[in-house]
Amino acid sequence: MTLRQGREFLSIPGPTNIPDEVLNAMHRPAIEIYSGDLLGVTERLLNDLRTVFRTTGRTYIYAANGHGAWEAAISNVLSKHDKVLVLESGRFAVGWGEMAGVQGCEFEILKSTPRRAVDPAAVEARLREDIAGEIKAIMVVQIDTASGIVNDIPAIRNAIDAAGHPALFMVDGMASIGCMQFEMDAWGIDVAIVGSQKGLMSPPGLGLVAAGPKAVEAHKTAGLRTHYWDWTAREGSVHYEKYCGTPPEHLLFALCKSMDMLFEEGLENAWERHRLLAGAVHAAVAVWGREGAMELNIQEPSERAASVSPVLLGDGIDPAELLKWCSEQCGVVVGSGIGDMGHNAIRIAHMGYANAPMLLGTLSVLEMGFQALGVPHGKGGAQAAIDYLADAIK
Ligand SMILES: *Cc1c(COP(=O)(O)O)cnc(C)c1O
Repeated sequence: MTLRQGREFLSIPGPTNIPDEVLNAMHRPAIEIYSGDLLGVTERLLNDLRTVFRTTGRTYIYAANGHGAWEAAISNVLSKHDKVLVLESGRFAVGWGEMAGVQGCEFEILKSTPRRAVDPAAVEARLREDIAGEIKAIMVVQIDTASGIVNDIPAIRNAIDAAGHPALFMVDGMASIGCMQFEMDAWGIDVAIVGSQKGLMSPPGLGLVAAGPKAVEAHKTAGLRTHYWDWTAREGSVHYEKYCGTPPEHLLFALCKSMDMLFEEGLENAWERHRLLAGAVHAAVAVWGREGAMELNIQEPSERAASVSPVLLGDGIDPAELLKWCSEQCGVVVGSGIGDMGHNAIRIAHMGYANAPMLLGTLSVLEMGFQALGVPHGKGGAQAAIDYLADAIK
């Protein structure tokens, strides 16, 4: 006997919950791809993406996941042997840099203090040393989904400007766009990427890229361009060429619906919702940690992500056992730690289509799991989350 019969709660940092309205938007026949309604769908989405990235620049839609968007970004603005500076803050920026390495770039990792965000002063100092201007691009993630760090993108932009460095500024907004403020133009971001399956509440499968004027200029001489990813090839007047082949129609229908929902809520309201849900998790973990070894991976409150909260569990429990219990007994699927946090952490996601009862349910089941499995913890974490939210929206 278990308590799991009922709607499963997916609390992992991607793919995230897909609203029924978005699922239903895909339940329709395929349509013509050279003319008719689909042309309007494409035009509308390219514009909606400008709204989400907050840019007047160009936007591109790829049938790809986030890694595809990474490759699209690299190949459109860089050449073999170009040097890129990767700002480490967990796992994902490094993965992006390694990909640039495979494509023939040289990459240098600017190390950060473990469990801390990128230090803008360190970025400025490194760029000041680059008198020859060897660094062609700077890569960073806004939210690192592995560590739960949020980097201060405008502060890093200011550091680049203070050093007077001309490198392209490339930002991964996979786990942040739709979940917190992101301002491509106002923050001087040259290339930005996101995927469909996190804050944007759609199924996985679309890689979305935005390019500002400096990136478009760099594109003209980029040596890594390949036909599939090439921005120029996608700017022709033939609709089919905008996708370099058959458009992923049903994913486009889904994304239209999730954009409707996001704009109806209001981007700023969605950011605030994420901020409050994150605050509720912080309140719960603080209480659990009073009589247990658990703690948020990110200690500095201003550096905690709005969309995902990795929690270190200490030695008392194997996270896999806890996650299995939550899933099998209660139908709540919480994220596992990844990278070097694979065996001592869980990741609680509050990303995309997530509301207070979903989060409170997840926190309550985790607390049930601690109790059922005999994991030492301070009691009342879920209550602290309730108190926090009740106070916040009073
Ligand atoms: C999920 C994620 C990616 C990778 O996206 P995939 O769709 O899994 O390829 C890249 N960067 C960040 C910050 C992510 O959270």
